[in-house]
Amino acid sequence: MKVLLVAEYREGKLLGSVNELLGFAESLTAETGVFLVGKKDNLPKFSGRLYLADVDKHRDYNPDGHKALLLQAVEKEQPDLIVFSHSSYGWDLAPRLAFALKTCQISEVVAVEGNSFVVPACNSKLRRQVKSLSAKTVLTLQVGAFQASETGGEPTVIDINVEAAPRISFTGYEAAVGGGVDLTKASVIVSAGRGIGKPENVAMIAGLAAALKGEYGASRPVVDAEWVEHNRQVGTTGQSVAPKLYVACGISGAIQHLAGMKKSEFIVAINTDRDAPIGEVADVLVVADLKQFVPVLTEKLKAL
Ligand SMILES: Cc1cc2nc3c(=O)[nH]c(=O)nc-3n(C[C@H](O)[C@H](O)[C@H](O)COP(=O)(O)OP(=O)(O)OC[C@H]3O[C@@H](n4cnc5c(N)ncnc54)[C@H](O)[C@@H]3O)c2cc1C
Repeated sequence: MKVLLVAEYREGKLLGSVNELLGFAESLTAETGVFLVGKKDNLPKFSGRLYLADVDKHRDYNPDGHKALLLQAVEKEQPDLIVFSHSSYGWDLAPRLAFALKTCQISEVVAVEGNSFVVPACNSKLRRQVKSLSAKTVLTLQVGAFQASETGGEPTVIDINVEAAPRISFTGYEAAVGGGVDLTKASVIVSAGRGIGKPENVAMIAGLAAALKGEYGASRPVVDAEWVEHNRQVGTTGQSVAPKLYVACGISGAIQHLAGMKKSEFIVAINTDRDAPIGEVADVLVVADLKQFVPVLTEKLKAL
């Protein structure tokens, strides 16, 4: 099996997500090539062929230009799988490539079982196994689903280039209008999940966060329900955080949430379900009703 991994480069830096792509390739014991629009002094660490285009010429992103470069790499490498991160770069480029190659695309892969790819279904409550019938398949991998590779190595660089001017030009990044809290700077985060039951209970979670001199965050359903503003969402479509202490209150531990917080130094989960997946990453799992436990804990902390 041959795989071509699509690494990403942004504002002068190679993104760490390439290590998860390399981990995925290792899990398949696949022959690995990597495509990168980047710089020679900042390359992914692996042993294999690296198709490198110059970022100064082709810029951080350009759907036209990057697709043309990628098609060249595919032509040279002839991979069975072309693999992207499930990021904004991957969302945009993967379907363009699949269409150009007239091949199958499978999005948001979280595992591989035999010849099938496992993807979430029904808002991640179920998992579906999908098998590709094409000779080549384009995949996007859910962030955090595969163990990052730490194998290292030195790639063999193959320079690639396209001369044709793309129809689109890249003008730069614009920071989202933020305002409010920056969770990435908090050393303690207490997050509210759907298990809090009703919007009035956000105050209880914020109270515990205040008693711990931290900030409060939330899982996506709590944000989708507009109980908490979006800049407090933790996970793949929210913020990625790594505080000293993360307290997950009524959060089941879906992969998209874990991807945003599993690098926290110490994780406490409060959940009525002792088998909730959050228990797999938690240092301490408190099996309790948060509505009873959180106020008592907050009072004890305030009394210290
Ligand atoms: C493309 C995509 C992107 C996504 N991005 C994100 C993201 O960025 N962040 C994110 O969080 N999710 C994201 N999701 C959603 C994710 O898949 C889950 O649906 C979500 O994380 C579940 O949130 P939850 O754990 O709060 O709710 P649930 O999964 O409903 O879990 C609620 C938990 O609360 C517990 N509970 C219930 N009552 C109590 C109580 N009284 N006391 C204690 N525990 C209790 C239950 O046992 C359960 O474990 C994304 C999904 C998709 C498809």
